Amino acid sequence: MKAIQVKQTGGPEVMELVELPVPQPKANEAVVKLAASGVNFIDLYHREGRYKVPLPFTPGQEGAGVVTAVGAEVTSVKNGDRVAWSGLLGAYAEYTCVAADRLVSIPQGVTEQQAAAAMLQGMTAHYLSHDTYPLKRGETALVHAAAGGVGLLLVQMAHHIGARVIATVSTDEKAKLAREAGADEIILYTQSDFEAETKRLTGGKGVDVVYDSVGKTTFEKGLNVLRPRGMMALFGGSSGAVPPFDPIVLTQKGSLFLTRPSLGNYIATREELVARSGAVFGMMAAGKLKLRIEHTYPLAEAQRAHRDLEGRKTTGKLLLIP
Ligand code: NDP
Repeated sequence: MKAIQVKQTGGPEVMELVELPVPQPKANEAVVKLAASGVNFIDLYHREGRYKVPLPFTPGQEGAGVVTAVGAEVTSVKNGDRVAWSGLLGAYAEYTCVAADRLVSIPQGVTEQQAAAAMLQGMTAHYLSHDTYPLKRGETALVHAAAGGVGLLLVQMAHHIGARVIATVSTDEKAKLAREAGADEIILYTQSDFEAETKRLTGGKGVDVVYDSVGKTTFEKGLNVLRPRGMMALFGGSSGAVPPFDPIVLTQKGSLFLTRPSLGNYIATREELVARSGAVFGMMAAGKLKLRIEHTYPLAEAQRAHRDLEGRKTTGKLLLIP
């Protein structure tokens, strides 16, 4: 089978298309023939070595496809089932092995491409808006990189809850998409100071929560736009990692809350995985969550997908098609 392999960490060029044997399942695993794999920012962190994984490895944390074989102990899925998953390495390939208890069924009416596009970013937007800081009607959220993969889904969920969404984006085209997703206010944070703008838009009161996936370039100012006892949900570092931080700053800026959440902790149990993925698929079926699959690339073009994502060129979801 064809797969992408990283033998040493580095730039996009370290991802090679190689021929590997179709994997055999362990007792608790299923083999899935992939219809699509999601491209996510975490794949860049793995490829660069920012998040360490043993070498060599096949990147990709999310996919959807059809079960072609199961291990001796697997009873929850069978050959031919349509399944999706996230949070396990190895999806940039034609086939991969997945622990059966991490697979969810793809509901009728949802294509495999849509499922691959919804799992990681959809469940992330869901846990951020429903659990990390459960937004309420009438509250105000600042969402950075609002036209990105997670961003567009998070804006839609916050909007449906009835919160006021202030969105930051880098271009006019991205502004249009964020507005269509339900953002009430847009700040072009590459052209104007989002701290001053957010204070102005909230009449100096500040926002209830900042959902920050950009990190290095936004974190510090983000703390300045929170209301007293507001929450900074720092969930990524697309511009780079936030430098070491003294917690006393949280006191000085108004007894703030800071969390650095990760999807894995919000789908740790089978029950939570099924409930959260079900909630995302349910929103899609109800027409409350529109996916924007911006681009599909052949598996062989994984390097191009990474260059586009890290080059800030993309809006919405990128998929690799084996
Ligand atoms: P996006 O589609 O959001 O792409 C990243 C966006 O970040 C860009 O489009 C860009 O938007 C913005 N950005 C700002 N500065 C930079 C920079 N210097 N270089 C590149 N991009 C920049 O990606 P994803 O939706 O896949 O992921 C978004 C973030 O969420 C990532 O940081 C990822 O690690 C994190 N994440 C965290 C999870 C968790 O559970 N903790 C789970 C899923 C994702 P603009 O041009 O508008 O500034």
